[in-house]
Amino acid sequence: TVPVYDDGDADASYIEDKTVAILGYGSQGHAQAQNLADSGVDVVVGLREDSASRDEAEADGLRVAVPDDAVAEADITVMLVPDTVQPAVFEAVEDGLEEGDTLQFAHGFNVHYGQIEPPEGVDVTMVAPKSPGHLVRRTYKRGEGTPGLIAIEQDATGETKEEALAYAQAIGCARAGVIETTFQEEVETDLFGEQAVLCGGVTEMVKAGFETLVDAGYAPEMAYFECLNELKLIVDLMYEGGNMEMWNSVSDTAEYGGLTRGEEIIDRDGFDEILEGVQNGEFAREWINENQAHRPAYKQYRDAEANHQIEEVGGRLRELFAWADEE
Ligand code: NDP
Ligand code: MG
Ligand code: MG
Repeated sequence: TVPVYDDGDADASYIEDKTVAILGYGSQGHAQAQNLADSGVDVVVGLREDSASRDEAEADGLRVAVPDDAVAEADITVMLVPDTVQPAVFEAVEDGLEEGDTLQFAHGFNVHYGQIEPPEGVDVTMVAPKSPGHLVRRTYKRGEGTPGLIAIEQDATGETKEEALAYAQAIGCARAGVIETTFQEEVETDLFGEQAVLCGGVTEMVKAGFETLVDAGYAPEMAYFECLNELKLIVDLMYEGGNMEMWNSVSDTAEYGGLTRGEEIIDRDGFDEILEGVQNGEFAREWINENQAHRPAYKQYRDAEANHQIEEVGGRLRELFAWADEE
């Protein structure tokens, strides 16, 4: 088992006298910047001149500068712009990184796949809340926090881990628990999870189930409820108490049917292929090229998904049952 760090393992002195440049004020940026500031850390938000986020950051009481000025001033620079624009932003601010500074990420894609090559003499870290930004902020304000990961890619100062833990504490993650990983492990498990299970796997399973019922002549509305809507009830149980909590809560018939039949629809070779494409860099190369070509395939896949019958049926039914959310 891996060690789980908490507030008791973090020493605030590794961050309290430092200036942190938060590049980007989106999901993670707004949360981490405000949590740091509330923890007494000096924060400067780095945003481009014409940034749509500038007013919001200033309204939240934060100092804003253009990215290269922010980085030049900072001891710790945190890359919280979208992963696909990070290489360009890095190029623009690279000269502001001095020996002993820290370059920090919340996801390892660009470093792991060589899209960003940090200079020697700089500490390279990851502090990644395992949660969307609004929860990072909301839980912090309640005196709680979201779990997080730390990883050290380059330790020039010998104090990189202490500083990462202090940062994790300042944004609230150490209140919940911090696990140490590596850039490689974080990236490969993250990409695999979203492709095979969370995003790709689940949507394909839902659509395949829906299509099977509709093609067999059942009402699309019935197929929608059975294959998509009820998924939330199942996932909530799994989230609360694991697979066993779910099996214990459904009927014995559902349990026996699921346990005996579920495996039939899973193709293990498909999982291995996805993992291989992540590990050998094939997926990363494809996605980088796709972005350079302004995302032609991405747009096609998106349109096809948006035009699937389940979207039309679901849109109609969700509107009909909107009252259920007001409970
Ligand atoms: P967002 O998409 O929310 O970032 C938006 C911010 O980036 C805005 O302030 C925007 O400013 C700025 N931005 C966008 N394009 C540019 C550009 N070309 N140049 C300069 N600034 C730009 O990012 P996330 O918070 O989702 O992700 C940030 C990092 O955190 C990523 O590495 C991600 O993988 C990681 N992460 C994200 C999580 C999440 O919950 N979303 C969870 C864990 C990790 P402007 O108004 O100027 O466009
Ligand atoms: Mg600097
Ligand atoms: Mg992910």
